[in-house]
Amino acid sequence: MTEIRDTVILGSGCAGLTAAIYTARAGLKPLVLEGHEPGGQLSITTLVENFPGWPDGIQGPELIDNMKKQAQRFGATFEIAHLNTVEVAAHPIRLHTSIGDISTRTLIVASGASARWLGLPSEQALIGHGVSSCATCDGFFFRGKEIAVVGGGDSAMEEALFLTRFATKVTLLHRRDHFRASKIMLERAIAHPSIELRTNTVIEEVLGVDEKEVRGVRLRDVASGEACELAISGLFLGIGHEPNAKMFAGQIDLDEDGYVKTTGNVLTTHNSVVVPGVFACGDVQDRRYRQAITAAGSGCMAALETEKFLEARGH
Ligand code: NAP
Repeated sequence: MTEIRDTVILGSGCAGLTAAIYTARAGLKPLVLEGHEPGGQLSITTLVENFPGWPDGIQGPELIDNMKKQAQRFGATFEIAHLNTVEVAAHPIRLHTSIGDISTRTLIVASGASARWLGLPSEQALIGHGVSSCATCDGFFFRGKEIAVVGGGDSAMEEALFLTRFATKVTLLHRRDHFRASKIMLERAIAHPSIELRTNTVIEEVLGVDEKEVRGVRLRDVASGEACELAISGLFLGIGHEPNAKMFAGQIDLDEDGYVKTTGNVLTTHNSVVVPGVFACGDVQDRRYRQAITAAGSGCMAALETEKFLEARGH
């Protein structure tokens, strides 16, 4: 007979790993499905300065690695697997994954959010050939070159600042003249001698498709309507993220941007009725705060709700 697990955690970022630590300590032997971005967004970030307990900051990958080790110490197991489809209303819940079918009494959805793209055909054609959404992964390839970063939030500022380690010049392109970035990050970018900010600017095309290598971008000033070209060797996207929840469409309620709707912090719903045993935490359900510490907090809540749910049913 197929084993029925007490709990499966979908996602191994800050939310999923915190849920894993708590459910493992509660003896639920969680299975964590790591997905296509193991460790989540923290695993591709640099210095995390606002996670309490690290007065000098900690590197994102190190923080994630510590959390994973902590969860493993209490009995959590990990598999690299992709969720193809899911039967949320089945009892037990059925997960059809790249490593086979899994049955579980509860599911913690901590699948996070993935980098957003502009959607230009030229951008898509040049991903991996000068277009990137991960400064920490690809910055090294742009040593001594001029590059651009798109976006006006903290991610864009962080990427631009990080990329000054390699690039001789970083042009930050933002479509408005107001920034979502926190004051401290924006001020650091403004003050940096290698960063130039260009506001009211949109990218119309990434140049270099024929050569299979980015050689520039065609820009338009949205205030004046004027077009111009900027010669660069690399373009980094820092324009936010999309929630990874498409596989739940029609089975749990998602909002207009695809984020999982929750009630009572982490309970999921379908047609506004609570779905038994399915909890959501972290960036897949949080469009407002989206911080490592808030993701960890909601991972803890999802784990405690899971425990309560199983206990009430005698498991
Ligand atoms: P964000 O705050 O949503 O900012 C996204 C930026 O990209 C916005 O400026 C937006 O422009 C722009 N944008 C979105 N779609 C675009 C498009 N199609 N074309 C051009 N520009 C586009 O996302 P984020 O920067 O990833 O930050 C997300 C959360 O993580 C925030 O809460 C942030 O504080 C946090 N975070 C914190 C740190 C840190 O503290 N070190 C680092 C990274 C992220 P508009 O403003 O015009 O909408």
